[in-house]
Amino acid sequence: APSQLLPPLQRLRVAVDAPQHSGLTGPLDYASEQALAPGSLVRVPLGRRELLGVVWPAAREDAATGAEFPLQDLRPVTAALDALPPLSAHWCSLVEFAALYYQRSVGELAAAVLPPQLRELEPKQLQLRLKKLDKLALPVPAEPAARPELSPAQAEALAQLDELLAQNGTQSPQPLLLYGVTGSGKTEVYLRAAEHALAAGRQVLVLVPEINLTPQLEARFAERFAGTAMVSLHSGLTPAQRLRNWLAAHFGRAQLVLGTRLAVFASMPKLGLIVVDEEHDPSYKQQDGARYSARDLAVYRAHLEKLPVILGSATPSLESWHRAEEGRYRRLSMPQRIGGGALPKVRLFDMNSLPRNKGVTTALSKPLIEALRQRLERGEQSLMFLNRRGYAPVLHCLECGWKSECPHCSAFRVFHKLDRTLRCHHCGFTERVPPACPGCGNPDIAPLGRGTEKLEEQLAEALPGARVARIDADSTKLKGSLEAQLGAVHAGEVDILVGTQMVTKGHDFRRITLVAAVNPDGALFSSDFRAPERLFALLMQAAGRAGRDAEAAARSEMWVQTWHPQHALYQALTTHDFERFARSQLEERLSAGLPPFAHLALLRAEARTAEAAKAFLQAAAAVAAELDGAGQVLLYAPVPMQVARVANIERLQMLVESESRVALQRLLAAWLPALGALKREHKGLIRWAVDVDPLAI
Ligand code: ADP
Ligand code: ZN
Ligand code: ZN
Repeated sequence: APSQLLPPLQRLRVAVDAPQHSGLTGPLDYASEQALAPGSLVRVPLGRRELLGVVWPAAREDAATGAEFPLQDLRPVTAALDALPPLSAHWCSLVEFAALYYQRSVGELAAAVLPPQLRELEPKQLQLRLKKLDKLALPVPAEPAARPELSPAQAEALAQLDELLAQNGTQSPQPLLLYGVTGSGKTEVYLRAAEHALAAGRQVLVLVPEINLTPQLEARFAERFAGTAMVSLHSGLTPAQRLRNWLAAHFGRAQLVLGTRLAVFASMPKLGLIVVDEEHDPSYKQQDGARYSARDLAVYRAHLEKLPVILGSATPSLESWHRAEEGRYRRLSMPQRIGGGALPKVRLFDMNSLPRNKGVTTALSKPLIEALRQRLERGEQSLMFLNRRGYAPVLHCLECGWKSECPHCSAFRVFHKLDRTLRCHHCGFTERVPPACPGCGNPDIAPLGRGTEKLEEQLAEALPGARVARIDADSTKLKGSLEAQLGAVHAGEVDILVGTQMVTKGHDFRRITLVAAVNPDGALFSSDFRAPERLFALLMQAAGRAGRDAEAAARSEMWVQTWHPQHALYQALTTHDFERFARSQLEERLSAGLPPFAHLALLRAEARTAEAAKAFLQAAAAVAAELDGAGQVLLYAPVPMQVARVANIERLQMLVESESRVALQRLLAAWLPALGALKREHKGLIRWAVDVDPLAI
């Protein structure tokens, strides 16, 4: 019979990005005439659309949706992208882990991290692309450019790394926490480590927080490894560039991949080393969709593929620091700057010492203006920064020091401008802003914090003739404007650079001898429990901008204007003592039951009315309470998100906490599938989402 001539149909499980409302969360079954290996890329029909899918390895436990259908009833795969080698089993495991951990479907995650243009790729185009790929330098380790003699600390770090590299593939090496002050030569360690891995014929993945803020790192890799194929992967690429670079990594043609958080999912068949630079940086956490932490996934990936991973920072995240303390990570310290450059002397300027005029303060103290004037006279540059962005405003009375503390929590209530309320983001306690300070009756209570623009104006007034440039998210909206502004600073066309925390990252300004934090106190009293950690990192990083030049180091200073000079954070800063700061923070976290001593997830709900969102979260909490029989997980009351309304949508969130990561994961896995059905019962609800290991609560 003719049917015998047809190849037998195969059943394939395919990870495909089915919409959330479809309720299809696992891979789907399709029929194929061709036997396709797991990891193969395919195009499949879903509803009336055609989507990119990945043939998924056999399930560990759950059957794919469609498994109950007989083979001949399954829809066929439209096309196989069989000119591409399949994604590796490791890659599939990484995506599967991330999907499980961050509570998304594998299909959604796979679709989010693969270049979208893969879908449109026809075999013919692919041949063309591959030809272009061949033009990338041949994978021959080139003679590295001239490189400096290693310092003893660097040599020690590399010796340890080589030990781990030698274990190659036999066991998962311990992650390395490379803890070294700015200028201690961490980048040089990355370069050498990469060199060793490349020489062994392996690929190297280097993750950076934000690519346009770290052009120097990219330049140093490019310079050192001239002749080695290096590509970048980040969201600033055009779709065509992203596809090309992704393919280069996937075919093993690109030996070095430098990228932002998305690049942690790069397909690299010969991966031998992962570097995570500035591992503490919050931009490693994806803030929508699948809210993964690329830093944490890098560690997982290294474990999975049994490779070394280097986490580098001058101010490691408290999570990583804690793991090093526990001995789970191997810590390598590089406490000295190369070439003896000293860190600038830190001066805490006590704002309480200024005369007060009716509660109105100037952002700039006279002594700071004087310090700026000295720099002007010597032809040196100054850097002043504010970190107004990203911190919730707390109300503050300048007369008596009152702050908008919550009576029920050890936290400050946040000023919500729209309805003029003070809200606690932990327990939900809300009050209207009092007409005057509850402490002393002063009517001038104001949010802590001031804008960069205002500062720019005040500088122009106080120091006429000074060339002031402002760098912040507003002044750099236009493409290329950041580079142009930075160029002007490097060229010496700017005397005083004013900016937000953007200016403190990565730039090596040689002529800066004064760095000033104008009013960083807001972070001390933020409702965000990570705010002090970030402030410390920011101040240390800012301090690192000064004194790079050994000759100028002697007269380099960092000024901090503060109302709280005795605060433990600032006291640790005066001696550049991260370890002391980390100790005090970890003690606080331990007593408050916060990460790394507790594990958190946030369930968020969005609705037309706050009532609808709240009702959903409360119903969800009731479901969770039933599932969590052992009571290992704590559910808090729903509260409005910091930005409670966006585009007329009310947003609420509920904190879920457990001492046990496993217990939290177990609850989420059982709980979230039930929420789909619950959503249908709550008509006013628009959407819900979960954020596992949220950065802020
Ligand atoms: P980090 O990444 O810790 O800030 P870098 O690796 O950028 O430090 O090193 C700081 C400076 O010292 C750079 O200009 C770098 O070229 C230089 N440098 C690094 N290692 C050495 C070394 N072993 N000998 C001489 N100069 C070095
Ligand atoms: Zn007061
Ligand atoms: Zn409270």
